[in-house]
Amino acid sequence: MAARPLLKSSRSGSILSSTGGHYLRAEILSVGTELLLGQITDTNAVFLSRDLAARGIDVMHRVTVGDNMGRAVEAFRTALGRADVVVAIGGLGPTEDDITKEAASEACGVALVNDPESESTLRAFFERRGIAFHDGNLKQALKPERGVNLKNPNGTAPGCVFDLGDRAVICLPGPPNELIPMWTDEAVPWLSARGYTPAEVLRSRTLRFVGIGESLLEPKVKDLLACRNPTVAPYAKTGEVHLRVSAKAADEKTAMDLIAGREAQIRERAGEWLYGIDDETLEIVTVRLCIARGLKIATAESCTGGLIASRITDVPGSSETFVEGLVSYANEAKTDLLGVPAGLIERHGAVSEDVALAMAEGARKRAGADIAVADTGIAGPGGGTPDKPVGLVWIAVSTAKGARAERNLFAGSRETVKLRASQSALALLRKTALEEF
Ligand code: AMP
Ligand code: MG
Repeated sequence: MAARPLLKSSRSGSILSSTGGHYLRAEILSVGTELLLGQITDTNAVFLSRDLAARGIDVMHRVTVGDNMGRAVEAFRTALGRADVVVAIGGLGPTEDDITKEAASEACGVALVNDPESESTLRAFFERRGIAFHDGNLKQALKPERGVNLKNPNGTAPGCVFDLGDRAVICLPGPPNELIPMWTDEAVPWLSARGYTPAEVLRSRTLRFVGIGESLLEPKVKDLLACRNPTVAPYAKTGEVHLRVSAKAADEKTAMDLIAGREAQIRERAGEWLYGIDDETLEIVTVRLCIARGLKIATAESCTGGLIASRITDVPGSSETFVEGLVSYANEAKTDLLGVPAGLIERHGAVSEDVALAMAEGARKRAGADIAVADTGIAGPGGGTPDKPVGLVWIAVSTAKGARAERNLFAGSRETVKLRASQSALALLRKTALEEF
């Protein structure tokens, strides 16, 4: 077949060529009643959204439709009316309710024909596994009369592309271990081979903040939130806030340079709370820091029940820094394991500044550590008093230089209070390691 420009942006009317890029609009169409029922999560659509965005293709709509011929055809028709590339997910199996290819065929006005190559691959696949081949499987060997089938080395169902010249419909199988490699290894190369060149790349960088709430961080960067390229978007998470900086540019380097400029502005204003980038969690940066400074750390936990130690030990290599973590839940455990004087607990209560400090000191001495953190609090939902409400958590840190404690009042469920407390404890650990060592 003669190489000809394939895709035309229906917005700009310009033809894509191998030399020039264009804005492309994509639509993701997930097919499956189990998605509508909430029985499975649409991880494939999330994957494709991210991947398409990174390739500079705008995803304008994401639609989910059940395994119903009439509604699926309608969904394809709607998608074809407003997108250049429609990527359909699922419904390529051999059974009655797998209707995606037929629905796409109907909406595109492109017939399905037998593909001998797909059929022999399919027969060989069944033979290798010693499973009988049924006529029902033949429908998986169908291919669009105008278009191609996409190889599936990880399953039976091939994918396919309906080639409409100015638009394309790409059908991918549902299982993520089949969809992801087929998209990357088959569908994307097909798009490239047909003259598709990304107009722009989109790159993002997530800046992670702790110790400052969204309501305090946002005013510091308010003007930047209104800027276009790069854009800055805030996301409030449990116990931390993220700012995602995204830039569009002709190439990756230009996009990353744009991001770096914006990041510098943000660091100038809120750098003291910025702890990590992208996938760097608070436990990762804290453990790395303690290892780099040659510190031994220990924990003594009450209301978090071991969550701090668990998060620390989630980080590979944490054995280089983490010595010991105790869950001292009952008053006697605080006394027996950490040497917190019983009289102190009696006088101030288990949830108190004095007890938190004594726990941290006890943990540090016991483990022979450089830094220890401790918490004691009321995770709820019961057990609160006007004096000591649910969500009150004292967090203390101890080093050879001394100990200090922070009073926190966390909102949320028991689980959220525990998570927020572990977050503040890690933040205090990190801050102390930075400041004192
Ligand atoms: P299907 O091709 O629709 O019959 O789907 C086959 C299997 O792939 C389903 O049972 C799910 O396990 C998985 N699957 C289908 N669609 C999705 C999706 N959108 N996201 C994640 N997994 C999916
Ligand atoms: Mg299905």
